[in-house]
Amino acid sequence: MTTRPVWAEISRPRLLENYRLLHRLGGEAELLAIIKANAYGHGVLDCAEVIAAENPRAWLGVTGVEEGAAVRAVAPHANILAMGSVWQSEADAAIEHRLTSVIWEPSQIDALQSAATARGCSPGSIQVHLEIDTGMSRQGVRIECLSALIERLSSATALRVEGAMTHLHSPEALDCRASTDQLERFVSVLDTLISLGIRPDWVHAGNSATVLSDGGPAMLTRIAIEYNAKGMLRPGLSLYGYAPRFSSAGVSLGGFSSSGFSSTEPLTTSHLLQPVLSWKTKVVSLRTIQPGESAGYNATFRATRPTRIALLPVGYADGLNRLLSNRGSMLVRGQRAPVAGRISMDLTTIDVTDIPGVEIGDEVTLIGEQGRERITAWDHADLARTIPYEILCNIASRVQRVMKD
Ligand SMILES: *Cc1c(COP(=O)(O)O)cnc(C)c1O
Repeated sequence: MTTRPVWAEISRPRLLENYRLLHRLGGEAELLAIIKANAYGHGVLDCAEVIAAENPRAWLGVTGVEEGAAVRAVAPHANILAMGSVWQSEADAAIEHRLTSVIWEPSQIDALQSAATARGCSPGSIQVHLEIDTGMSRQGVRIECLSALIERLSSATALRVEGAMTHLHSPEALDCRASTDQLERFVSVLDTLISLGIRPDWVHAGNSATVLSDGGPAMLTRIAIEYNAKGMLRPGLSLYGYAPRFSSAGVSLGGFSSSGFSSTEPLTTSHLLQPVLSWKTKVVSLRTIQPGESAGYNATFRATRPTRIALLPVGYADGLNRLLSNRGSMLVRGQRAPVAGRISMDLTTIDVTDIPGVEIGDEVTLIGEQGRERITAWDHADLARTIPYEILCNIASRVQRVMKD
C-alpha cells in the first residue's frame, strides 16, 4: 500500500500521442517502442498496455527476459524484443514467453538452441535478431567474427534470423559522419548476410534522434528496401515526451543551427512531444525561520530574511538528485519555489516565502506543469549534470506510478 504523498502521474493520452507522432515521423518505417528499464521509469506494464491497445502487434523493446515475460502478460500479441539478449538459463523462459531475442554471442545461440530442442520446437520457429557492432563496442557481433557466428547459426536449426540491427552512437550529432559511417558498415554486413543466405524480414537502427532527424527515417527505409526487408526505428526517450538535444559540430544547439542542416526539422517536431510523467508531492509541514537561521544538513541554506520553509516528504531515496540542493526549484500554487538547503534521504525543504498562502496539503510539482510554469527532466538533468534518461529512470520504485486519462 502506498500512502506517502509522493507519486508520478503517467499521462495515457500523451504517451499515445507521442507514439502516434513518432509513427507519422517514421514514415514507412515501423516503430519499435523502447519500453526497457521499466519504460524509462514510467511503469513498463502500464505503458505496454497503452501501446498494445493502440496496436496489438506492436514491437516493444524490453531490457531482457524478466521484463519481457512480465510484458507478455499484458501484451499477448505484441512482438517483444529482448534487447539485452538471453543469459544462459533464461533461454527457456524466453521461448516460453515467445520473446524475440537479440543475439550476437555463440553462447546465446547455444542456449536458445538447446532450450528449443528440449521443448521440441520445430526448425526455424525461434525468431532472433542479429545485432551488428558497427562502432558502439558494446553489444553486437564484430564484423570479423560474423562468419563464425553465421556458421554457428546454421547448425542451430531451431533459430531463424528475423531481424538485423545495429545501434548508432551519435545520432543527435547532425553534421557528424559517425552515423553515416556506421550505416555503411551495417550495409556491408547486410550484403554478407544475403550472400550467406540469411534474409532478415526486418532491418533496424536508430533511436529517438534518428526518428526526429530530417533524413533518418527515409535513410533507414531506403536501406531496408534494398534488402527486401522492412525498416524499423527504435525510439525510447521521445515516446516519453523528451527530445534529445541535437548538436552541430559538438555544440549543443538549444536554438537554431546556423548551418541549417537538418536542424529546424527536429527542433520543430520536438516541440510536439509532450512529457508523459509528472512527479508530485504535497507540503506536509511549514515553519518560518529568522535571519541567520539555517535549513538542512551542514546548514548550507541560511535565511537572510524571515523565511517560510515548506517540508516535502521526498528525498534522494526517491530518486531526487542531491545536486538539486540549493539549486533546483519546484512548483507550488503555480510559482517556482527554490530548494532550500540539502536534499535529505526522505525529505526536502523549499523556500515558499514569495508564494502567498501556502498551506499543508498543497500539491508540489517536482517535474511537470502548474499553470504557465513547467519543470522538465531536462531541467533536473542540467542541474545534476546528467541526461533526462537517468533522471527518469532514477525515480525510485517506492514512488507510486498512477496512470491518468
Ligand atoms: C535504449 C535504446 C534505444 C532508444 O534510445 P532513445 O535515445 O531513448 O530513443 C534504441 N536502441 C537501442 C539498442 C537501445 O538500447
